[in-house]
Amino acid sequence: MAIWDFDYSSISSITRLLEDNGLGMTKKFGQNFLVSMSALDRITALSGACDGKRVWEVGPGIGALTTKLLQTGADVTAFEIDHGFCRIIREQAYFDVPNFTLVEGDALKNWKQVWSEQGKPDIICANLPYNVGSVFIASIIENRCLPQTMVFTLQTEVVDRICAKQGDEAFSGFSILTGIDYENSEAFKLKSGCFFPPPNVDSSVVVMRKRETPLVPDSEAKDFLELVRVLFAQRRKTVKNNLKATGKISADIDRALSECGISPTERAERLGIDQILALKRSLDK
Ligand code: SAM
Repeated sequence: MAIWDFDYSSISSITRLLEDNGLGMTKKFGQNFLVSMSALDRITALSGACDGKRVWEVGPGIGALTTKLLQTGADVTAFEIDHGFCRIIREQAYFDVPNFTLVEGDALKNWKQVWSEQGKPDIICANLPYNVGSVFIASIIENRCLPQTMVFTLQTEVVDRICAKQGDEAFSGFSILTGIDYENSEAFKLKSGCFFPPPNVDSSVVVMRKRETPLVPDSEAKDFLELVRVLFAQRRKTVKNNLKATGKISADIDRALSECGISPTERAERLGIDQILALKRSLDK
């Protein structure tokens, strides 16, 4: 077996490869390749990928990160939507690499099938296409497929939301969703020159490590997440007004809010996970 020896740091080599294969880069698929070897090395190291670990990658492109992950000896399953890139990956890059599996098509549609066939990955590591990044992360967590470690390159704005704490400006329903099961931190920022072509948004790498004990017990997670969805459905509405969508009568909502010491005029982004959990339990009574 031989992993492809391609110079992923060379923009001219990438351009030539794409030209030779009659391919181009598509904005709609968020195609910005990582060309910084040091960034790729740091991302791979943060993921903890190593021999025997099962790793998923969303959007391998032509394989810059994939190659690094495979070199650790990990078993890599990569989801790629661009059929042209898939052809390069299948026929040139990892033609006879046994620890590599390509899943061709939309990761958002295909990951559940792979999960049911292969089981949960230990690690998800990706330079995520920015247009599907947060949707993919939300889908993984909402469906309770929870790998030990996730490392993503994303817009800095999304990383800020993932890492935000109660009271921070960036705190949102997404911060809660990603904070229940994971401890999240921004590992480093990436200059636009680390990518080809350079994106016109700022980028950062986020590391999500699974908590020993989730902040919401697993048995309550589904209902908790439904309550979060209701509370954050209309950001400008008060907690009480958003809660009306639960179908509960006003008196029950008032009682639950008062039991938890939450003002009916409060906004959801000012509530912490513990307060929302207490509210869920009061509403359940
Ligand atoms: N991993 C490569 C790298 O770092 O150089 C490429 C990353 S590029 C930001 C995002 C990749 O995701 C592209 O190859 C794009 O075609 C692919 N992609 C976009 N949407 C996708 C989807 N819904 N499912 C699977 N792959 C997708």
